[in-house]
Amino acid sequence: MNKIYLSEKDMPRQWYNLAADFKNPPRLPIGLDGNPLTPDKLERIFPMNLIEQEVSTKRWIDIPQEILSILYRWRPAPLRRAVYLEEHLKTPAKIYYKDESLSPPGSHKPNTAVVQAWYNKKFGIEKLTTETGAGQWGCALSFACSIVGLECKIYMVRISFDQKPLRKSMMNIWGGQCLASPSKATSFGRKILKEQPDTPGSLGIAISEAIEDALTDSSGKTRYSLGSVLNHVMLHQTIIGLEAKKQLALIGEKTPDIVIGCAGGGSNFAGLSFPFICDKINGAKITIIPTEPTACPTLTRGPFRYDFGDTAGQTPLLAMHTLGHNFVPAPIHAGGLRYHGMAPLVSHAVTEGLLQPRSYDQVKCYQAALTWSRTEGTICAPETSHAIACAIEEAQKAKREGKEKVILFNYSGHGLMDLLGYEKFLNGELKEYSLPEEDLKKSLEAIADFPKL
Ligand SMILES: *Cc1c(COP(=O)(O)O)cnc(C)c1O
Repeated sequence: MNKIYLSEKDMPRQWYNLAADFKNPPRLPIGLDGNPLTPDKLERIFPMNLIEQEVSTKRWIDIPQEILSILYRWRPAPLRRAVYLEEHLKTPAKIYYKDESLSPPGSHKPNTAVVQAWYNKKFGIEKLTTETGAGQWGCALSFACSIVGLECKIYMVRISFDQKPLRKSMMNIWGGQCLASPSKATSFGRKILKEQPDTPGSLGIAISEAIEDALTDSSGKTRYSLGSVLNHVMLHQTIIGLEAKKQLALIGEKTPDIVIGCAGGGSNFAGLSFPFICDKINGAKITIIPTEPTACPTLTRGPFRYDFGDTAGQTPLLAMHTLGHNFVPAPIHAGGLRYHGMAPLVSHAVTEGLLQPRSYDQVKCYQAALTWSRTEGTICAPETSHAIACAIEEAQKAKREGKEKVILFNYSGHGLMDLLGYEKFLNGELKEYSLPEEDLKKSLEAIADFPKL
């Protein structure tokens, strides 16, 4: 069986909240003074209905019927089996993947974008601001805002803005406005431009600009929206893993031995893996692997610390694995994996010993992506190639061990808007790159005096 479909009526009707099931509760966000944050401090940034989800410890949260109706536009997403890749690798392993590339913008990101847009609209908000790295999130939120009827303004990391001009066109098609970040539209953007006119930008800088934009709107009808990292985003994405479980059960497949997702801010990984982490907490034997670039090794080399979510320091301090909020990653092509921090829930799962993070070099990832395209046929996003590289590695290991393992990974998006990176790889222009130890040390100096965990 190559693909397993779920009918609309069998789509999950609740999201799963991993915060309810940890043995030790995750640390809450705090201010620089070390005091816990009260929800009202977030009220100017996010609508209260989403803040309630952010701090909730309820295990299951109902998905409103109107949101289900919106999700039906592309969900349930198929679970597929990579039989041609299996054949090519001559592995006894079975490789399944959730195909999140079939949403209108082409990634998993609309799973939360439409939800956030809907709750903001419900709360009386008229405009959302946000940042985008590779452009996937900006597209997802533009699409979502066009569906529910909100204005949308996007700060796009300069390097991606230049590398991927057609992403801006996509955002414009859905009615969104897209600026290169750092921009002249905010005081923080102007400050950075003055200090470093040639900066490639970073997600941290773009987040700061988008938050400043929302906070300085005197009408009070603008809020900020984040595409990853936060608890409520992880929550909305769990529909991926919940569907996958139903689909595996439908074909009588056992619980997977290995679950894999690439991790930038952590949302597509969390979406697939959190329902399986729940099983693992309850005794199931599963190896769960978030994968990241060696150029931005947040989980594999970044310490678990309190740090800002953005560069300007406008967010609360989050307990997470971090490379330091001033970190400006090398301009690798997996733009969505270039964030300095990692979702607090994913970071906490690492400290609880539930995950085995791994990092992969971009050259190895593009090799894996080509193997994929030449067997399975589709062209994956550069981010997704980090999950595929790991799935291939695990399938080869299963072959050496002669074990019929079940591997499940998240196919987070297609790469049809990211062909420049492929072209460079095919021309032999991409080099192996791993973050130098001195750069990491230097970047971490900025958080040396922050409250300790
Ligand atoms: C944004 C993006 C990612 C990384 O973001 P996460 O929040 O870690 O999921 C991965 N894959 C694709 C296709 C993306 O667009």
